[in-house]
Parts: sequence; structure tokens; C-alpha cells
Amino acid sequence: MVTSHPVSKVVVVGGGIFGVSTAVHLARLGIETILVNDGPLAKGASGRSLSWLNSARKRSAEYHRLRMIGIDRYRTLSARYPDAAWLRFDGGLTWDADDASNQIADVFAHEKDLGYDAQHLTAAAITAVTPGVAAGAVTPQGAIFNPGEGWVDLPSLIDALIAEFVERGGRLVTDAGRATVTVVDGRATGATTTSGIDFPADAVLLATGSDVPRMVAATGHHIEDGTPIALLVRTKPVDLALRAVLNTPRVAIRPTPDGALALDSAWSEEEVIINADGTYGVKGSTIDGLLEQAAKVLEGHPKLELESYGVGPKPIPGDGEPVFGLLKDIQGYYVAFSHSGATLGLIAGELIADEIATGREHPLLAKFRPSRFA
Ligand SMILES: Cc1cc2nc3c(=O)[nH]c(=O)nc-3n(C[C@H](O)[C@H](O)[C@H](O)COP(=O)(O)OP(=O)(O)OC[C@H]3O[C@@H](n4cnc5c(N)ncnc54)[C@H](O)[C@@H]3O)c2cc1C
Repeated sequence: MVTSHPVSKVVVVGGGIFGVSTAVHLARLGIETILVNDGPLAKGASGRSLSWLNSARKRSAEYHRLRMIGIDRYRTLSARYPDAAWLRFDGGLTWDADDASNQIADVFAHEKDLGYDAQHLTAAAITAVTPGVAAGAVTPQGAIFNPGEGWVDLPSLIDALIAEFVERGGRLVTDAGRATVTVVDGRATGATTTSGIDFPADAVLLATGSDVPRMVAATGHHIEDGTPIALLVRTKPVDLALRAVLNTPRVAIRPTPDGALALDSAWSEEEVIINADGTYGVKGSTIDGLLEQAAKVLEGHPKLELESYGVGPKPIPGDGEPVFGLLKDIQGYYVAFSHSGATLGLIAGELIADEIATGREHPLLAKFRPSRFA
């Protein structure tokens, strides 16, 4: 489908990875673009993300394909910034608990069938393949090493993309207060902030992370929301050989640009306290537990110390798949709402910008339309 065009001016609401990536891609296409964020850039999920670049385990074929193309775009970026400490492709290592839930053999067979680069390793074989892991922590079913995986530090990526955006003439408005999309006679006409500043445009991208479902509800549209409150713990720098991203039964770990570690897990997420006033609390025992779990799976069981932590919503659509593109029946109103926004950040921005600029629906996004929840 091709919608009415041309579009010459676009407002992007939201300064996380989806908003920033789309804004820079629009600027590359020569479209006058304004990016409006309520606070500083990357203050939402993109500022407290594990940011493992992957398409490991099982999901729909369309979602797998999009993620693989997403990783490919990072490969291209990595060739442009070969020495960047914020984008690394040193692989990912994963293992499961030693109980009936262990899926390692099944996942390995699945990944092999897809041609997803995977090696099934015994504990003893790991050190020769990827350093820094406590082999004794690996369960008897073994681990999968995926050499093509990597990680990105999203705030650093956002800095690099925004520098290009501004260089190309894009207008950046931060600390603007909360913006809403203005809709007149069935079409998006721009955005307006709580302080009353209007940003008129031919099209708007709503990329406000976990706020997307609530904000589109104001237009009568429903996007199913499965967003949990997530916790990311950052350690102080530590002298370690670890290079890969680790996904283990009790903790996920990735290196950071400054030689520290970022940690998260499902159980620590469940321990976050959600207060009645909408604020979040994190128990000291949760943080200590996560640091201990990380030390257990690292070679030499180093003492890990807390540097900082981030807590808040992790945007996840109700059916787990991305939500990208035009809202049905509202001309020029586009949305971006997804988990795995690190893996998808570059490709989603590229494809959404292309849809906004050309009015042509991109086939790679066909399965991910907001209208599926109607
Ligand atoms: C703990 C954790 C671990 C994760 N692990 C991974 C992983 O391993 N791999 C992976 O690929 N992804 C991972 N993700 C997911 C990924 O980080 C997110 O999908 C991505 O950061 C979402 O980006 P976004 O641009 O949609 O939202 P956000 O980064 O939340 O950005 C939204 C922005 O919009 C602004 N905003 C909100 N409302 C308004 C408004 N009304 N007006 C103006 N501005 C507004 C916010 O301030 C914010 O800056 C993880 C996320 C978390 C939290």
C-alpha cells in the first residue's frame, strides 16, 4: 500500500534508540526532521539495556529474519568503527539449568537448521573457544557458543547517531517535557509539548518506548502491552578476560566499554518493588544476589562491586513481536514499540524512515503492524 505523499517534514517523539535511529535515517533521506524528547537522550530503556545483539533460540521466521538483518547492519557499522569500544562482535555463550527445562540440545538443533552460527560445547571445551568463563558452572548438557553475536552500548551509539543527525541539519529538542501527537481530521499534524510548543509536520513517529501503548490508546487504537519493570546492574571495572555475552540460568552478563559488566536476569526483575505512587524500589539483597551469581560463572570468581543500577520499564508488546509502522486510519501517524530494540535499532530506523519518506509499506515489516491488535 502507498499512502498520500510527499512528506517533507517529520517529527519524531522519543529519544531512545528507535527514535534516534529513525531520525538519522530520515535526515539521510533529506527529510527535514525534528526529534523531541522529554528529558535527556537515552534516559529510558536504551540507557539501561543489556543490548545483546542476537537472534538466538526460537521465534517466528519473520522476526528471526528481521533480527538477522539487524545484526548485519551492526556489522556494517562495526566496519566503519573498527576500534569502537561500544560495539563488539565477540560472540555469545549460553547454557540452561540442569533440570527438565534444559533446552540446549533442542535449541542447538534448531539453530543449526536455520544456519545460525552455533557450536555445542562441553564445559571442558569452552576455554579454548571463549575466555573468562568458569567452566565448572556450566551444566552437564553443555553450552552453545554463537560466534556471530555481539553487544552494543546504546548510549554511545545514540551519541554517534545524533552527531550525524545534527550534522545533516536535523533539529534536536531535548528536555522538552512530555509531547503528544496532534491529530486533526484523521491525520497526524505534528506534536505539541506540555509547555505548549507546537511542532507541525507532515508525519509523526511515536517512539516513546513503554509509553507507546498508552499514548496510542488516546486515538482509540489498542496495542497489547506486556511491558515488565526491569533491572540492569552495572559493576565497577574489573580485570577479566571475558569477551562474550553470557546468558546463564541465573544471570546474563555483558562487558561494557569501560571494562565493567552489565548484569540482568529474570529472577532479579521479578524482585523489583513497584510502589503505589509508580516509583520503583530495588532491594540490596537483589543486587548482591545478582553480583554473586555473576561471580559464580566468571573465571576466578572475581569480587564484583556495584557501580550503579537502572530500573524501569522494558518495552515488550503483548505477543512478544515488534510493532512498527502506520496506525490504521490515521494518516502520517507511525509507531515503533518493541523488545530487542538494541538488535533491531538500526534496521527498524532504516525501514520506518523509508516507509515515512516513500509511503510504501516495506515487506520486511508486514508481520509487525499495529493493526494486528485491532
Ligand atoms: C534490562 C533490559 C535488558 C535488555 N536487553 C536487551 C538485549 O539483550 N538485546 C536487545 O536487543 N534489547 C534488549 N533490551 C531492549 C532494548 O533496550 C529496548 O527495546 C530499547 O532500548 C527500546 O528503545 P525505545 O527507543 O523504544 O525506548 P526508550 O529507550 O525507552 O526511549 C523512549 C524515549 O522516549 C522518551 N519519552 C517517553 N514519553 C515521551 C513523551 N510523551 N514525550 C517526549 N519523550 C518521551 C523517554 O524519555 C525516552 O527517552 C533490554 C531492555 C532492558 C530494559
